[in-house]
Amino acid sequence: MRLSRYFLPILKENPKEAEIVSHRYMLRAGMIRQQQAGIYSWLPLGLKVLRKVEQIVREEQNRSGATELLMPTLQPAELWKESGRYDDYGKEMLRIVDRHDRDMLFGPTNEEMITDIFRSSVKSYKDLPLNLYHIQWKFRDEIRPRFGVMRGREFLMKDAYSFDIDEARAREAYHRMFVAYLRTFKRLGMTAIPMKADTGPIGGDLSHEFIILADTGESEVFCHKSYLTKPVPGDDVDFDSDLSGYIADWTKEYAATDEMHDETAFNAIPAEDQIAARGIEVGHIFYFGTKYSESMGATVMAADGKDYPVHMGSYGVGVSRLLGGIIEASHDENGIIWPKSVSPFDVGLINMKVGNEETDAACEQLYERLGNAGFDVLYDDRTGQAGAKFATMDLIGLPSQLIVGPRGLKSNEVEIKDRATGERELVSLDAVVDRII
Ligand code: ATP
Ligand code: MG
Ligand code: MG
Ligand code: MG
Repeated sequence: MRLSRYFLPILKENPKEAEIVSHRYMLRAGMIRQQQAGIYSWLPLGLKVLRKVEQIVREEQNRSGATELLMPTLQPAELWKESGRYDDYGKEMLRIVDRHDRDMLFGPTNEEMITDIFRSSVKSYKDLPLNLYHIQWKFRDEIRPRFGVMRGREFLMKDAYSFDIDEARAREAYHRMFVAYLRTFKRLGMTAIPMKADTGPIGGDLSHEFIILADTGESEVFCHKSYLTKPVPGDDVDFDSDLSGYIADWTKEYAATDEMHDETAFNAIPAEDQIAARGIEVGHIFYFGTKYSESMGATVMAADGKDYPVHMGSYGVGVSRLLGGIIEASHDENGIIWPKSVSPFDVGLINMKVGNEETDAACEQLYERLGNAGFDVLYDDRTGQAGAKFATMDLIGLPSQLIVGPRGLKSNEVEIKDRATGERELVSLDAVVDRII
């Protein structure tokens, strides 16, 4: 992509409304634009990252055996009246009336709708286990939308729903999602800690919030230090096998949000291993048994020939919130530092002297060669100060920058800068493509 043809509305000044660094950088880097409180347009650079995050979430859901579908954003009120949540949900639900005076709502979550889909076609335990998910915009009329995409009113969520014949099988489904979440957040370059979360009236031990530590997080959390370095299950994890060993390992030390905090258990940890910090909830998994299947009549026939309400769980990831979370975890005073897996482009190519025949030719050649080698390149081909170009590249945080100027070209060299470490290195023109990884 040539920057001269792209849409990258960089802000020079820090926007006053942005209180935290991720919000500031997302606005300044031209990733998002607020249209109303908590409602954003995703500008080209932001959309690129959003799609990459979404794709990693999708790949790990698929790997774990879940199947993607897509439900609408608008839902009929009837379904929510069946479950009893239409009245309970309160003001966070955006309610809409159509021209025929039918009550509708913009979905804040999809338990009712997925239960409706399930009950219309699945009748036998032989069709289980089943896990269906979608990645769709949600609306919650948050009382205090803030911190940019971190707490939006409209936001992108991956929500999966598992269906099993009994609690034991539902537990296996829960384990699969647990492991899928560990892998997802790891691939996004983050350390997310599963923390014991409130299960509400259902009880039991099957609810975890996945939390990344950040001073700007809205949750108060407590955990053992070991979670920061615990190895995550690799590519070879077999989702058809018994995963309980992983779950035992990832829940054996203390980790809880303030709602579930147990001071005595926490104090039993040696002081040097205690972490009391703030965190961002990026995912939440939950087994809720037959709560919706009973009220909505979603039953399946078991091996004994009798019908039972299906056991369900739901599993959310805040896809758009993750962009804020990643930036909170990975930035410096000059801007964003994207993990390679989600960077909007692989390489930034800076032409220090547009109009100079040699630099133009070298840049064109590099742009083509890198493209042919499969790299997604953002080429700053605009006239303008080198200083401003460097600042822009640092702000938008691409992992590698290639700096091409007349001086280096005299000895056939260009500079490679690593955004994360700031290290610069001169490399001969011919060797550049091999050096970018
Ligand atoms: P929070 O405690 O932050 O309000 P929640 O517990 O209400 O979140 P869930 O119902 O568990 O949210 O939804 C699943 C995931 O969706 C959350 O873990 C979070 O990552 C994301 N999410 C929830 N609300 C928002 C929001 N207003 N903006 C962006 N992401 C959100
Ligand atoms: Mg909430
Ligand atoms: Mg929460
Ligand atoms: Mg939650």
